[in-house]
Amino acid sequence: MKRKVVTYVRVSTEEQAKQGYSIPAQHQILQDYAKGHDLEIVRAFEESQSAFKPGRIQFKEMLAFLKKNKDVKGVLCYKIDRIARNLRDYSELAEMAGVRIISATEALPENPTGTLIGTVQAGFSRYFSEQLSERVQLGMQTKAKEGVWPSFAPIGYLNDQGSGGIVVDAERSGIIQKLFEIYAYEDVSLSHLVQWARERGLRTRKGGTLTKGAIHKLLRNPIYYGALRWKGVIYEGSHQQLISKALFDKVQDRLSGRSYSRTKHIFPYRGLLQCGYCGCNITASLEKKRYIYYHCTQGRGKCLQPYVRQDIMGDRLKAVVDNIHLTEDQISVLLDMMRRGKSRRQEQVEKRIQSLKNEAGIRSKRRDALYFDKLDGKITEERWQQLEGELTVSLDKIRGQIELLESIQEPQEESVQATFELLERAPVLYSKQKDEERARLLRTLVSNCIVKGDSIDPVYKKPFDLVAIGTKTGNWYARRDSNPQPPVPKTGALSS
Ligand SMILES: [Zn+2]
Repeated sequence: MKRKVVTYVRVSTEEQAKQGYSIPAQHQILQDYAKGHDLEIVRAFEESQSAFKPGRIQFKEMLAFLKKNKDVKGVLCYKIDRIARNLRDYSELAEMAGVRIISATEALPENPTGTLIGTVQAGFSRYFSEQLSERVQLGMQTKAKEGVWPSFAPIGYLNDQGSGGIVVDAERSGIIQKLFEIYAYEDVSLSHLVQWARERGLRTRKGGTLTKGAIHKLLRNPIYYGALRWKGVIYEGSHQQLISKALFDKVQDRLSGRSYSRTKHIFPYRGLLQCGYCGCNITASLEKKRYIYYHCTQGRGKCLQPYVRQDIMGDRLKAVVDNIHLTEDQISVLLDMMRRGKSRRQEQVEKRIQSLKNEAGIRSKRRDALYFDKLDGKITEERWQQLEGELTVSLDKIRGQIELLESIQEPQEESVQATFELLERAPVLYSKQKDEERARLLRTLVSNCIVKGDSIDPVYKKPFDLVAIGTKTGNWYARRDSNPQPPVPKTGALSS
């Protein structure tokens, strides 16, 4: 009997034009694949999406369809990254019992490791495309290096069409200066400062009200003392400063709490935990001068979250490392898969570079020919100047693209390997450590954890989020397969 599947095709509007990615092309490949693999396509889902409009209506519909039709056992897609643009969606799909994700163009083993690889691979292709779009901003980077702010002017400045840089906004710059002064010298909270700025009509570039986060970001922006930060690097700016570096530094000290002796490190897990009942932070306090207890700040009224002693909280938080534990076997397969994926991507990039170089060669020849036409009097001086100008612009563009493609960096294998090895050893390491060390390890893995009673829901940082989904979905396979291999650790082993 044929296995019933649905197909899922997604194309973004930018991709539509490119060959091989168009919707009919993907459908054709999937149909051929189904024929060759004894699959029956019962329904086709098709998502056409613009980068400006997120949300995936068809994807949701597909999930609903699969939930209703239990005899449908798989989703056939062109490539894993067609499905995994959104990892949350991906895991939702992968966790559906009995449903398998089948890629028509990538061979993945049908076991927990296969699922894990699929997930990580999806993450890497996403990483790759993110990096590509980041590099499209190369020109902006160059501008920043030259001390010119390459983007929308921050509040207090205006974009200057003439110079392409920024100039002081006479109307708002005074308020900005005052904000820094108040925060540096008066003992006011950030919320107070927000209120103060609102009263003076300070708004975001798009006209919205300023939030606490926005003010915080503003106070951290080196642009106001004449520097500029672009992609994490500080450059000397060529624009006029609004405040002195000394004032800026003073504000930074206050923001990081350095000018006040706060009892920051006494409670190691503080700042890591969020209440799953009401969304407030989980804070800690010393009870009976001896025991540290973690509890909800109850900032939104009475909360169900119980008080938990530090050692118990620490043991519960072991779930964070357990959920991303990798075995040695899994690591070696993963690294192998990544190596292969990497060389395939490099091949594609090299091909693209070659074709761009050919294109550049053609245009530069054409430019030479034009020059001789001009010398021979076949075209007028004016016409020559116009054509020559156009060609130069397009040549620059092509060379920029080549530079861009050549600058793409894949993650270093050693660092990936080191990360994986950390994940292999993490549970053992964790168990041996004191709370301070445990908290430090946790901070490298998660941005925070949602705590609800005795359950812990970690919010992993990249790329650990991928591993978490991988091991989780692997677990699902382990349940389904009669001969699971290799064994995957239990998830949700929270109780200590
Ligand atoms: Zn709460």
